[in-house]
Amino acid sequence: MAQAFLRKTTPTTCPYCGVGCGVLVHEASDGSVSIEGDPNHPANYGRLCSKGSALGETMSLDDRLLYPEVDGKRAEWNDALDLVADKFSQTIKEYGPDSVAFYVSGQILTEDYYVANKLMKGYIGSANIDTNSRLCMASSVAGHRKAFGTDTVPGTYEDLEEADLLILVGSNLAWCHPVIYQRVAAAKEKRPNMKVVLVDPRRTMTADLADVHLAIKPDGDSALFNGLLAHLSKGDFLDTDYINNYTNGFDAALDAASMLSLDDISKLTDLSEAELVDFYKSFEETEKVVTVYSQGVNQSSCGTDKVSSIINCHLATGRIGRAGMGPFSVTGQPNAMGGREVGGLANMLAAHMNIENEVHRDIVQRFWNSPTISDKQGLKAVDLFQAVADGKVKALWIMATNPVDSLPDADGVQDAIRNCPFVVVSDVLETTDTVRHAHVKLPATAWGEKDGTVTNSERRISRQKAFLEAPGDAKADWWHLAEVGKRMGFEEAFDYRDGAAVFREFAAMSDYENDDTRDFNIGALADMDTKDYEVMSPFQWPLKPGETHHETRFFAEGDFYTPDRKGKFIPVEIKDRQVVSDDLPYVLNTGRIRDQWHTMTRTAKTARLSSHLAEPYCEIHPEDASALHLKDADLIRISNDYGKIVVRALVTDRQKKGHLFVPMHWTDQYASKARVDTLIPPLTDPFSGQPASKNVAVKAEVFAPKTYGFLVSRGKPKFTKEPYWAIAQCPGGWRAEFALNEDSADLNEVFWKLLGRDADFLAQSMSDQRTGNRRSAWFDGDTLEAAIYLSRRPVSASRSLLASWLEKDHVGSSARQKVVAGIASQDMPDKGAIICSCHNVGAYEIADAYYAGNHSVQLIGECTLAGTNCGSCRAEIQAIIDSAYAEAAE
Ligand code: SF4
Repeated sequence: MAQAFLRKTTPTTCPYCGVGCGVLVHEASDGSVSIEGDPNHPANYGRLCSKGSALGETMSLDDRLLYPEVDGKRAEWNDALDLVADKFSQTIKEYGPDSVAFYVSGQILTEDYYVANKLMKGYIGSANIDTNSRLCMASSVAGHRKAFGTDTVPGTYEDLEEADLLILVGSNLAWCHPVIYQRVAAAKEKRPNMKVVLVDPRRTMTADLADVHLAIKPDGDSALFNGLLAHLSKGDFLDTDYINNYTNGFDAALDAASMLSLDDISKLTDLSEAELVDFYKSFEETEKVVTVYSQGVNQSSCGTDKVSSIINCHLATGRIGRAGMGPFSVTGQPNAMGGREVGGLANMLAAHMNIENEVHRDIVQRFWNSPTISDKQGLKAVDLFQAVADGKVKALWIMATNPVDSLPDADGVQDAIRNCPFVVVSDVLETTDTVRHAHVKLPATAWGEKDGTVTNSERRISRQKAFLEAPGDAKADWWHLAEVGKRMGFEEAFDYRDGAAVFREFAAMSDYENDDTRDFNIGALADMDTKDYEVMSPFQWPLKPGETHHETRFFAEGDFYTPDRKGKFIPVEIKDRQVVSDDLPYVLNTGRIRDQWHTMTRTAKTARLSSHLAEPYCEIHPEDASALHLKDADLIRISNDYGKIVVRALVTDRQKKGHLFVPMHWTDQYASKARVDTLIPPLTDPFSGQPASKNVAVKAEVFAPKTYGFLVSRGKPKFTKEPYWAIAQCPGGWRAEFALNEDSADLNEVFWKLLGRDADFLAQSMSDQRTGNRRSAWFDGDTLEAAIYLSRRPVSASRSLLASWLEKDHVGSSARQKVVAGIASQDMPDKGAIICSCHNVGAYEIADAYYAGNHSVQLIGECTLAGTNCGSCRAEIQAIIDSAYAEAAE
């Protein structure tokens, strides 16, 4: 057989988080594709995390939306676009421009975002365009704009490596921004004196890197940093030259910060006075300090205040815009920053101009030569869907996002969309919890087919490039929008030849009448030709006309973008944000897990990523579990007035007592009742409009079905009315956890019901009257077709072991009993829960390696390969080492 050779390598960018890693896609002559971190990309220098490494496994066309559909029937593009344009035009004519809205996404490219914003704000004349980035970093945007006069991240990733004190606030870098975590871990290994402080209610995997973990009370962050400002002032640790020359408002901010005694702060933060003093001393003594913050700060009813209180401390010490210093917001999404740059938020104009600023509106309107320009903020995400529910928004276009799962009061949002007179969804998937409610479905290009730019958390603009043909009739999102714009009568304004033309226009706009009054300027690229756009290498903005690529930082010498060019201290008032009550005694926190992304539309396509945590779960402290009579692996029901979910209990002291953590990823496509945003009230920060998803009052109770079940099967199981289920891909097929309302279900009937076929395969079964365990495995010739395990208690068997039987070409007669019994054998050892998804290494294998004398992550890597590819699991390997060490010491 001819050997495959490398046909082409395409440099592109990972489509997941805001780290924005460069990726090299290698295409071989046999059509196969392999993925590698781009060693020359300044965001990652060759590193990738587990999600980025698995990109090549997520490109199948399964479940793809390939053709436009109107009312569930395939349609021609022309008909679908005419209908969208007509409906939007008619609605605007009848009810005015604010009766329509776009809800877009940090997943779309800057070119898509730019065209969406131009159509809505400059041609429709409404600012009703908001984005799921509202859920991610809107509080950082608001905090930046208050202090800096514009939305600028002042520093670079290198600052995190160069800092002597790195403070991580509400940021689980290890799982949410894994390549930044790896960069910090490598820097700390080289400079062990670098101190890392984690401020987070949870002891996340990031805590394993931290010298100090401050397990702060939810929303206690402003009190912590106000106290720091007061401490710095009392001890004369301020940079008075910086304050006097480059800022305004210090006295008022200090007055507000000085209202609290150390004792008050201790109560507001749950931190001891000794912890507070130690933390304040570290800051006081260290010149090079970077404070990194992300969703734990932003997703709060006081998120903007938290950002202000952090920035105040950096302004007061002049620790901003210099190497190894500054406040640093890391964004969740791959192109949240690009969306901010083009004005994708309802309260901003394009190119970092302000919607409330008459001069800016005039600049934008003249640049676009547009018939109108919106002169007031549009509806922010939560208000926007409330307006849909109230019937004020009558035509809605959703692009590349899944608000039925990701917005607060998710069931209310689902009802609003379901009842909206006209809903268009542009997406890559045929079915998501949102797409299923669309009147018109427009097929979009996916990663690998899309072509444009994205901006990462350090202001670096990179190309995302197409290396695959668009399948079916899929087209770029900017094209969907431009075609509708033309059909609405704006032919000339939306007559773009390609994405490069959109980018050039955006670059020109950023420099238009700028005169250094605006931070965002990429005017150097306004005349770039399409060939240069194709090969454009990553660069940091600004890049003004005449400049070439260079590293950039802001505000070391002041020069802010406020009217007097001075930075502004913001006084922050503190309120206790206690949410719990007798009826709702637990605090619910939500967040990401290591190997899934958003609502799993892409990452759940790979068995490798699904093997890490295959089921929705709730972390609960052992004492809370005991009070609820809940054991590890029981099912737990969590509820409040907005909704209820049922997930698996994971009892761990990583969680604070009285606090629960549930991941945000699971949808109705993968579990029966795990959409955690159904529990989140539509409560938002007053400045940013960002929802508070990390400090929510709930109650918790055991959910005890009559029967618990687990199955592995080659075919995808289908659940309908079972009280609990969760499915995930595994190598060779599917695995599912489920529960039944009956206690003596017939195994063959269960097989028929869940797998849709008669159980006419050769079956092997066993049952135990005493425990209620009943198990059957069905074989098709030599291979396992399916195995079902039922029990009165949560099924006790190694999931990775059971799933691995599906991969065997030959399961001999002696092995079949082991499949049914769920026991390991010499040729099929039990790996335990998968920790390293790159090399499929389980927890038992890592523990065995430890007990064989490999007492470091590196040695375990050499012995098992765990942690040697992307490194995302290194913190978990360290946790296994720590617990094995502690066990041995007992
Ligand atoms: Fe992608 Fe991981 Fe890099 Fe984020 S850290 S951009 S998910 S490879």
